Amino acid sequence: MAKSFDVVVIGGGPGGYAAAIKAAHLGMNVACIDMYINKEGKPALGGTCANVGCIPSKALLDSTWKFHEAQQDFAVHGIETTGVSMNVGAMIKRKDDIVRKQTDGVAMLLKANGVTWLQGRGKLLAGKQVEFTAHDGSTETLQAANVILASGSAPIKLPMAPLVDGVVVDNAGALEFQAVPKRLGVIGAGIIGLELGSVWNRLGSQVVVLEAMDTFLPMVDRQVGKELLKSLQKQGLDIRLAARVTGTSVANNEVTIEFTDANGEQKLVVDKLIVAVGRRPFTADLFTTDSGVNLDERGFIFVKDNCATDVPGVYAIGDIVRGPALAHKATEEGVMVAEIIGGHHAAVNYDCIPSVVYTHPEVAWVGKTEEQVKAAGEEYKVGTFAFAANGRAAAANETTGFVKVVADEKTDRVLGVHIVGPQASEIIMQAVIAMEFGASAEDLQMMVFAHPGLSEVFHEACLDVDGKAIHSAKRKRKK
Ligand code: FAD
Ligand code: NAD
Repeated sequence: MAKSFDVVVIGGGPGGYAAAIKAAHLGMNVACIDMYINKEGKPALGGTCANVGCIPSKALLDSTWKFHEAQQDFAVHGIETTGVSMNVGAMIKRKDDIVRKQTDGVAMLLKANGVTWLQGRGKLLAGKQVEFTAHDGSTETLQAANVILASGSAPIKLPMAPLVDGVVVDNAGALEFQAVPKRLGVIGAGIIGLELGSVWNRLGSQVVVLEAMDTFLPMVDRQVGKELLKSLQKQGLDIRLAARVTGTSVANNEVTIEFTDANGEQKLVVDKLIVAVGRRPFTADLFTTDSGVNLDERGFIFVKDNCATDVPGVYAIGDIVRGPALAHKATEEGVMVAEIIGGHHAAVNYDCIPSVVYTHPEVAWVGKTEEQVKAAGEEYKVGTFAFAANGRAAAANETTGFVKVVADEKTDRVLGVHIVGPQASEIIMQAVIAMEFGASAEDLQMMVFAHPGLSEVFHEACLDVDGKAIHSAKRKRKK
């Protein structure tokens, strides 16, 4: 007889494992199937995020920013350093140790919550049955009352830039260079391209980023995008917009990239090339056609707002469904679905999901951009305030960037907050909390912010919405 579970989750990334843990909290009998094998050849939970995404990329961003500071920023504080050097092998090992701790931590959490971790591949069949194929090839059929599909995403491949082991790489390979490439090419000025391009640029690579579109980070507020582009260019990243790659070839450990830009056909020779042109939902061999699950026109699993597929009791979450490909979005969908299965009311507020680009300066935003509000014909007001006018930012020698607040002209409700600057990833959470509670700009104006603090820049931007910023000589004269 088939083993039966209240919930079978396919995929153990931030969406799947969170769903499994939450369902277990609610008293359900849960199995989580995950097929990932790490570079040591061992099964590892945590998905893209923990193994080759959020966590290892931030480990390298933090290591390399410390190196950058030691080389270029310490002197201003009076700290004299000579002969600072980077041991790339030690940096990569530290990253690997952090990844291992995270993935082992997820395994420990599943165990502590009584979730059965099945190591291998899962496939949804008709009637909410799940075929499980273990890594040794043995198969068994599980019967599930509910199934949560959480198989994540995979990098998009470019036919004109096929991967070549250790030379032309995707995001996973870009975390593994054992030495600093002298010349590094990156295809795609998206989040991965900018974060990983920054990592190697800080260690001395000459980085050229080729971006097909003529707009830099089009989803970001225009003023914020402009400021980030300027900062990254100042750091030495050579970002070329409207540059369309037409071909690549590898010979003698060098990559020749052919591309076209405004000046016609171009050639660039680099030592390593990172291809980071987006991700696609990973649905290969995930369900049979008679399972009843359908894809949408973009290849994502079709789901309603509550992540329910077309089959009652089958849900899909995270990168395989519409919406931003973000770990925290996957997690919240996983928790929501587990609660719905458990008979509770739950929903994700898709209008309030923060996004962060972990470059330096960081970029973070939530809600609508000024461009979106304008295009929708809504009446709005804007407040901005620069980190350069903030005492804590001056003390930290971190004065690049600003906070911008967009509010509804009539109701004063905050519609969006956009930050480029130090600790944007942390400050944005104040905006998320405020927006979740439907705050107006005035609500935030009346709050007391600790001094001196970088968050005061957010406070002043809220004040500036009504021309009331205290530390601004260019006060808008309203009331
Ligand atoms: P995944 O994390 O992709 O997990 C899916 C899991 O399912 C995998 O382990 C996979 O092996 C397994 N699987 C797939 N098919 C099957 C099957 N049939 N049977 C069994 N198992 C299966 N997001 C952020 O929010 N912040 C960041 O800073 C950030 N940085 C990133 C940096 C990089 C370099 C990359 C590549 C991504 C980054 N992301 C970041 C995105 C984030 O990693 C994803 O949005 C997130 O991991 C999606 O979670 P998920 O649970 O949907 O899928
Ligand atoms: P992306 O969609 O952010 O950017 C890809 C870029 O590549 C785009 O600007 C696109 O125009 C460009 N491009 C596409 N085809 C091209 C071509 N042929 N030549 C040149 N440029 C081309 O994708 P990504 O950077 O690969 O990241 C994938 C997803 O992973 C992101 O959308 C994001 O959701 C997630 N992610 C998040 C974080 C974070 O939250 N900090 C970090 C990394 C990744």
